Amino acid sequence: MLNRAAPDIVPLAAPAAENARLRPDLLAAVARVIDSGAYVLGDEVRAFEAEMAAALGVKGVVGVGSGTDALIIALRALGVGSGDEVVLPSHTAGPTAAAVCLLGAVPVLIDVDPDIYGVTPELVATALTERTKAVIVVHLYGHPVDVEAIAVVTRGAGVPLIEDCAQAQGARIGERQVGSFGDIGCFSFYPTKNLGAIGDGGALASSDEAILAKLRALRTYGWVRPQYAEVPGGACSRLDELQAAMLRIKLAGLDASVTRRRAIAERYRVGLHGLPLRLPVERQGHAHGHHLFVVRSEQRDALAEHLKGHGVMTGRHYPYAVHEQPVFKAAARIPHPLSETEALIPEILSLPLFPELTDAQVDRVIAAVRGFFAR
Ligand SMILES: *Cc1c(COP(=O)(O)O)cnc(C)c1O
Repeated sequence: MLNRAAPDIVPLAAPAAENARLRPDLLAAVARVIDSGAYVLGDEVRAFEAEMAAALGVKGVVGVGSGTDALIIALRALGVGSGDEVVLPSHTAGPTAAAVCLLGAVPVLIDVDPDIYGVTPELVATALTERTKAVIVVHLYGHPVDVEAIAVVTRGAGVPLIEDCAQAQGARIGERQVGSFGDIGCFSFYPTKNLGAIGDGGALASSDEAILAKLRALRTYGWVRPQYAEVPGGACSRLDELQAAMLRIKLAGLDASVTRRRAIAERYRVGLHGLPLRLPVERQGHAHGHHLFVVRSEQRDALAEHLKGHGVMTGRHYPYAVHEQPVFKAAARIPHPLSETEALIPEILSLPLFPELTDAQVDRVIAAVRGFFAR
């Protein structure tokens, strides 16, 4: 993950930099948990869940083991099973599709709007059938999809809506945070995400009490009360006290850290303006969470190589669409051509972006990109 990159290297992400800044507070939180004797689903998890629910403006949050587990549990809570169709974009992180396939459901893969790298209400509408059991939208890279308009489409069809917010914690539409619009919002605390644990973690958000009760049961063997299972499909996926105690500290700083991500993105936009590069947009009224800063270039691979030569690390999110991976393709239904997805995959390049990136480092990246096009 290049956390310990040499000082002259600009890494793509650097969770160790944030953790170093918060070290005394994190260590105090760890000591508190060690001394408490409660290590799973205790006071820290309860407090974290309440604090995250308040920040999101939802009735409840349920902490689980990872973002992927959050998606699996969300689908289970909505009754998705073998042969059911679940609509999702083909341009997303593998886990979105893996969760659907794990349940034996059919991933119905749709295209994206190339401006925001996410699905539109029109694309979702073309994919719905009698067999659709859920729709998953992904706020990819941190840009919100138009989830309010999509919810009108899904509600009209009587289909529940899941928001995959793994890359978008802290992103907003108007004043409202993503994850509060659909029936269930799913979050990942993978260390490089906007809210990163020191290990794995995830959460679900909902304002529907019946759904929340199911989510809580599903993370602990289907139990509705101790030692009594009533909800089918329950396994074991719990956020632990250590991660929750540390996440509480980071949650308190999330707004500031997303604000810094957005400022870095703005510096990139200004510095890279006028080059033959497609820069990320931010739709009116939408606040991009900027988990990633993804540009598009027909010379992507040469540009990446040039940047590497100048000590600037880059990423590809993602090198393969979902429908280009055999495991998912074999299970999928593809209702329309995935032309935008196929056109963008060879051209996307993620530039370094994390809150501790300095302005001087951003300027170095900008100069290196400009140097490539000036050759
Ligand atoms: C990271 C990610 C996930 C999975 O989260 P994990 O915590 O790694 O399981 C799911 N969807 C998207 C879009 C992601 O970026």
